[in-house]
Amino acid sequence: MKIFNQLESNVRSYCRLFPTVFKTAQGAFLEDKEGRQYVDFLCGVGTLNYGHNNPQIKERLLRYLDSDGIVHGLDLATVAKEEFLETFAATILQPRQLNYKVQFPGPTGTNAVEASLKLARQITGRENVIAFSNGYHGVTLGSLATTAKASQRAAAGIPTTGVNFIPYDGYLGEDIDTTEYLDKVLSDVGSGVTLPAAVIVETIQGAGGVNVASYQWLRSLEKVCRQHDVLLIADDIQVGCGRTGSFFSFEEVGISPDIVTLSKSLSGFGLPFSLVLIKPEFDRWKAGQHSGTFRGPNLAFVTAKAALDIYWQDDNLSIAVKQKGSRMQLRLEKIAKNNWESGFSVRGRGMIQGLDCKDGNLADKIIRTAFANGLIMETAGAQGQVIRCLPPLTVSEEILEKGLDLLENTVNEVMGKTVYKELVDVGVSK
Ligand code: PLP
Repeated sequence: MKIFNQLESNVRSYCRLFPTVFKTAQGAFLEDKEGRQYVDFLCGVGTLNYGHNNPQIKERLLRYLDSDGIVHGLDLATVAKEEFLETFAATILQPRQLNYKVQFPGPTGTNAVEASLKLARQITGRENVIAFSNGYHGVTLGSLATTAKASQRAAAGIPTTGVNFIPYDGYLGEDIDTTEYLDKVLSDVGSGVTLPAAVIVETIQGAGGVNVASYQWLRSLEKVCRQHDVLLIADDIQVGCGRTGSFFSFEEVGISPDIVTLSKSLSGFGLPFSLVLIKPEFDRWKAGQHSGTFRGPNLAFVTAKAALDIYWQDDNLSIAVKQKGSRMQLRLEKIAKNNWESGFSVRGRGMIQGLDCKDGNLADKIIRTAFANGLIMETAGAQGQVIRCLPPLTVSEEILEKGLDLLENTVNEVMGKTVYKELVDVGVSK
């Protein structure tokens, strides 16, 4: 790790948690320089829904490169973009009767969030935005202002303004519907909350601790937005692209966000790619108003189209995600039950599942021990108290069980309980 410690900025983070030099990856496995393999339950925080180096997607990419297809094209019309747009419309939008225009705002998730907030402010002529406790939307200034964690906002060095935070579903306890509170403050000129341009929400807060909003709460939120003529932005960057089972995490909820942000697994291959979906009546951008050099990620267009062709022409992936998600939840609940005295609990939907250890130091110890045992996961939540599991959606049942065995044994090891040696031995050292 010498060159990294010497030369790379102090800002680096994941490589401190997983201090080895990774070399190759395939499916649900990462391999380091020493030939040690790790089961990947982090997957680029949900960027590798179809696994590392998915062979079918890779094949399309290699074919495209071999044909001298456009790699960089600003936002020029290219064949790769044309084919992506056609496939996205035919495979994702039309079957769901969704009518959205597509904006390519720049490569990363935060670019999509920035664009969505700017657009909402332009459309309404209002400055304020409502975001939620424990929300995470990225780290560039506009997005950062909607990101709840104080330490992250403090890094801006200037006040992050134009946002009011409202308690997310469950924040004030199970019985309190915080959309009623939102409705009240938006109805009352004495509340101190200025009428916002938009509400930005994650249906499941990933970084915030795998907090799952109920369908009822999300529907009420949409109703409040409609009542007050406020736009609804669904940030589906982490839990979209199939993570919950459906392509969009809000599909089964039955809400109709005005603006949607997507990124992470959108390219299907780990290539940077994000987009903003905008209801046509709100596509008020003027040409060139939101510009950028990297708004035509042609390689990502190719791999994203491949992912849609391969995984989204039928319901097979969705069904598998729901089955494997239930299995994950069951296994995590068993771990929680074994540790009832420490108050462990489980929450999630589809294949994003979190084990709440109620203690950030403990969760940190568990993920560091898991790494030593050959399993990569990350913590989430304000105190880092939740272990977040994000395996590839395409992981085989066998490898999923192996990862869950490693997790169970690691928790047992850290909690001083019986460790099933035979399960550790099916671990992943070469
Ligand atoms: N929004 C959500 C919900 C996210 O989970 C993330 C990243 O984790 C972002 C926005 C920011 O995306 P990026 O890190 O690609 O800028």
